[in-house]
Amino acid sequence: MTVESVRACLGAVTDPELGRSWDEARMIDNVELSGAGEVRVAIELPTPAYPDQERIAPLVQKTLHSQFPNVGNVAVDVSWKVRGKESGGSIGLRCKNVVAVGSGKGGVGKSTVAAALAYGLHTLGAKVGLMDADVYGPSIPHMLGVQRNEPPAVEEIKAPSGETIPRMEAIDVNGLKTMSMGYHVPDDKPIIWRGPMLHRTLQQFLQLTDWGELDYMIIDLPPGTGDVTLSLSQMLGLAGAVVVCTPQQVALLDAIRALKMFDTVKIPVLGFVENMSGEVFGSGGAQQAAEKHGVPFLGELPIDPQIRIESDAGRLQALFDEQSAPRPHLIKICQRVAIEIAKNSLSSSTMPTLEVL
Ligand code: ADP
Repeated sequence: MTVESVRACLGAVTDPELGRSWDEARMIDNVELSGAGEVRVAIELPTPAYPDQERIAPLVQKTLHSQFPNVGNVAVDVSWKVRGKESGGSIGLRCKNVVAVGSGKGGVGKSTVAAALAYGLHTLGAKVGLMDADVYGPSIPHMLGVQRNEPPAVEEIKAPSGETIPRMEAIDVNGLKTMSMGYHVPDDKPIIWRGPMLHRTLQQFLQLTDWGELDYMIIDLPPGTGDVTLSLSQMLGLAGAVVVCTPQQVALLDAIRALKMFDTVKIPVLGFVENMSGEVFGSGGAQQAAEKHGVPFLGELPIDPQIRIESDAGRLQALFDEQSAPRPHLIKICQRVAIEIAKNSLSSSTMPTLEVL
């Protein structure tokens, strides 16, 4: 038994979540051998949202025991480091994975899912930003309970090159960094945009906000298809889009339209989330539609008055409390999304470029 033979043996293990070998997924961080056949293995997961992490150590132990019958104690350290495409580089955003959350139409819970996805990944340990690009009807500040009398501060900072760059304060919600048009205009003021202005504002939100370094940036898109998605797809190489829909047939048609729109602008679709499943709207429709259209199903969030109540009261974060009924559903959705991102980042080496539109 040598370090190389242990690495080769573990490298051939197929990861139960990613469906790729640990070698391909570059998950074996370190292998050390000590006297008496003892082995210490460090495994690095591609996301803190990797489900059932307690499976990993026994899998390492079982694999080594079957290959090397005389192996002694096998100690396994499991850590994580988010992998990603780092695709915000061209506009100066330091983020490993930018994820858009969209829907075919309004009112299906897209903002709820976007905010919960961001907050969930943050509670699991990742560095996360949440950008509300639903510029016509920003609801993120309200859901997270951010009340402001004045817009976020803009300060000038000095770059190493000597030039001064304006920086806008990201609004911190228990460590989650957020930016929204809702911080800049009063709640009751309608927002009317011309295309170029919209594009510029999105660009400023991405470029000027002091996001720091992020593992994930979640973007809440406006409902339907349109300008914002197109602008974002030109500015960033998104890791993918999550499509939120409700289970009824009529709503699913809109979701399929959203799917086709993301295809057209070359944003990979990470999958469908079914929201408001239950007696009122039924359940299972989104999963069937996902299967039919060959996209992953990312989980369901049942209809539950607690979701509406907490979000109306600006306490969406409370959905992640230990005793909260929606919590396991939300964590599962965060895990599925993070795993799909990790899978995609293994298979696509370069960001897709948008051709002619
Ligand atoms: P969208 O962004 O698609 O317009 P929202 O996220 O603003 O939708 O949700 C619309 C309304 O539905 C909000 O009041 C929200 O609290 C509520 N809601 C969302 N998901 C659920 C759910 N699973 N159960 C109960 N209410 C929900």
